[in-house]
Amino acid sequence: MLWLIFTSGKCNLVCDYCGGSFPKDIIPWKINYDLKNIKKLVESDKNSTVIFYGGEPLSNPKFIMEFMDNVKANRYGIQTNGTLVKLLPEEYWKRMNLALLSIDGRREITNKHRGKNIYDVVVKNAKYLKSLGIETIARMTVTQDSDIYQDVMHLINLGIFDKIHWQLNVIWTEKWDVQSWSEKYLEGIKLLTQYFLEKLKEGKVIKIIPILGLISAHYFEAYKGSPCGAGYKSVSVTTDGRILSCPIAVREEWAVLGNVKSGYKLLEDPLPDICKKCEVKNYCGGRCLYSMKEKYWGEEGFLQVDEITKKYIKIVISIIPEIDKLIRDGIIRLSQLKYDPTLDSTEVIP
Ligand code: SF4
Ligand code: SF4
Repeated sequence: MLWLIFTSGKCNLVCDYCGGSFPKDIIPWKINYDLKNIKKLVESDKNSTVIFYGGEPLSNPKFIMEFMDNVKANRYGIQTNGTLVKLLPEEYWKRMNLALLSIDGRREITNKHRGKNIYDVVVKNAKYLKSLGIETIARMTVTQDSDIYQDVMHLINLGIFDKIHWQLNVIWTEKWDVQSWSEKYLEGIKLLTQYFLEKLKEGKVIKIIPILGLISAHYFEAYKGSPCGAGYKSVSVTTDGRILSCPIAVREEWAVLGNVKSGYKLLEDPLPDICKKCEVKNYCGGRCLYSMKEKYWGEEGFLQVDEITKKYIKIVISIIPEIDKLIRDGIIRLSQLKYDPTLDSTEVIP
């Protein structure tokens, strides 16, 4: 199971789609629970992946070290804005399996939303982490300024990220005209899907997660809830010891599954009712539990995003017959297409 462990509510940046640190009364900036309690829970999970999360998790490197020294997990990783990498000693980095770094694509797009010079700092730190043998994953936020094809290809061509995923800046921010923007976005998805297929023909799997994650769901396991695993294959532990289904839902009662002292209960049926009869539910799993519950853009906004999701899924799965042939011809092995997003804390459905 995936364990997203908050190390602090503090962040050193103020990206415009996020707003920076959490208030201390919502996510304290220090750990308020006994490490022994979380040790018991994580170590009783035989398939544990621990991902340090925040705020900016590297704003509390001491806790990361204490955790890694005391709590055994199968995999360790971090979701970081990539600017405070030097605060964690190299010996701890070398014990990490993966690092997800926030970068939105091209330099001007990243700096516009995340701050001056952030792109160069993140690229430099990603190179450093990669030199230590850590798997690097680019974590993009896609806004109305993004050109999905150009921005993803830019990151692929940098050659320093092993995997790439993105989330659309929709539902939880101010409403914007996603409908008009989506035409170009879906054109970009077509180009990326074509690129993915061309590389498959050469026997290479390019780890564009919103594509690979759907292909994997087709051949292997359908998503029974949000592909991120929220509440059924993934839990988030806040600095005050609450256990939540989704790390974004820090203020919402519906997200509380328990706490580190008394334990937790996973969701039994994580697929939302509205999705039960959807033709693409096996690929989508309800997209995002948080936006499904909160619906900040109202019913109409929700349906707009839903339409985009369905179109994107159909574009990607349209290449399945060609992939079948590549498998039959021995150009690609089926096992190369298997991907579990909860091993990496990636998002399949943007
Ligand atoms: S496309 Fe929409 S209705 Fe269908 S499973 Fe995804 S979120 Fe649910
Ligand atoms: S995709 Fe949605 S439900 Fe899953 S972790 Fe992200 S915000 Fe939470």
